[in-house]
Amino acid sequence: MRPWEKAIRRVTPYVPGEQPKGGDLVKLNTNENPYPPSPAVLACLRDMDGGSLRKYPDPASSGLTEALGARYGLGAEQIFVGVGSDDVLALSFLTFFNSGQPVLFPDITYSFYKVWAELFGVPYETPPLDENFRIRTEDYAGQNGGVIFPNPNAPTGIYMPLDQVEEILSANRDSVVIVDEAYIDFAGPSAVGLLERYENLLVVQTFSKSRSLAGLRIGFAMGHPRLIRALNDVKYSFNSYTMNMPSQLLGAASVGDEAYFQETVRRIRDTREKAKLRFRGLGFSFPDSQANFLFVTHPGVQARVLFEALKRERIYVRYFDAPRLDNFLRITIGTEQEMEKLFAFLEDFVKKEG
Ligand SMILES: *Cc1c(COP(=O)(O)O)cnc(C)c1O
Repeated sequence: MRPWEKAIRRVTPYVPGEQPKGGDLVKLNTNENPYPPSPAVLACLRDMDGGSLRKYPDPASSGLTEALGARYGLGAEQIFVGVGSDDVLALSFLTFFNSGQPVLFPDITYSFYKVWAELFGVPYETPPLDENFRIRTEDYAGQNGGVIFPNPNAPTGIYMPLDQVEEILSANRDSVVIVDEAYIDFAGPSAVGLLERYENLLVVQTFSKSRSLAGLRIGFAMGHPRLIRALNDVKYSFNSYTMNMPSQLLGAASVGDEAYFQETVRRIRDTREKAKLRFRGLGFSFPDSQANFLFVTHPGVQARVLFEALKRERIYVRYFDAPRLDNFLRITIGTEQEMEKLFAFLEDFVKKEG
């Protein structure tokens, strides 16, 4: 090791899903939305005044914040916008988890939480999910430095009803509780409705999945003005101009088209419920996902073998080489045609191998 290398921070980075190049592939590996963004977004893109790129963007993302406030019935002082929810969540770790006490999140969950905890030196504990992959709310009742979990959880897709979310909140009045709602639009009611009663709650959502805008990188947090102010203070201590101007305008255009949003979410939920029947018919089992993906396993076909076979067909799904997960595949809900291609292959493959 060179002397100057001793001063380098060593981290084990998060590994994102593959973004394969080229056409003619079925991409069901990173939970993107298979439908294009709203026509209102595309119109806004066409009409954009490129000349204004000369100037710095609005550091407060006011237009987008106001659009979100109107959509969720909140004031601008209750909303923080960031560069994807990954940015919002990373800043939240930096801002809220400084007590020195361990932060709690499930052992099986979004694997970025552990990476941020390590990066920022936040101690953490990971209570195990039960044998059905469910979060045990009683594991989140002890002293802690904060709580974070996705609802629905990833990669299981399991949605936790709000009375259970509230159990965790009421047991944690003294620490910040973050509910990562990346997939909430495909599931049940959001914890946003609990903000009135819990000032220590932060609800984080994203435009990447239900709004078909993963490429723009827009995420946001909703919470008590004190939490939002604290996030802004840290953001302005880091980089004032995180959100670029086109993303601010296009994001607001997306929020303005509620009908298109509802329609694409409905289509994905319909396809998901049909896919559950097809998978079950082929002998797969899976938790009852309320997200835009299914987490499937088969008694006669090894997940890794199936993953490789699908890839040879240019059908990309996600495989996690980790304890308890390594015989499952996480498969994003695509269009009806994409799912047809998947099932045509699976019917053949399961008959031969299963
Ligand atoms: C996709 C995802 C995110 C990150 O979304 P971006 O807004 O694209 O950064 C955060 N949390 C969970 C659980 C996710 O699945």
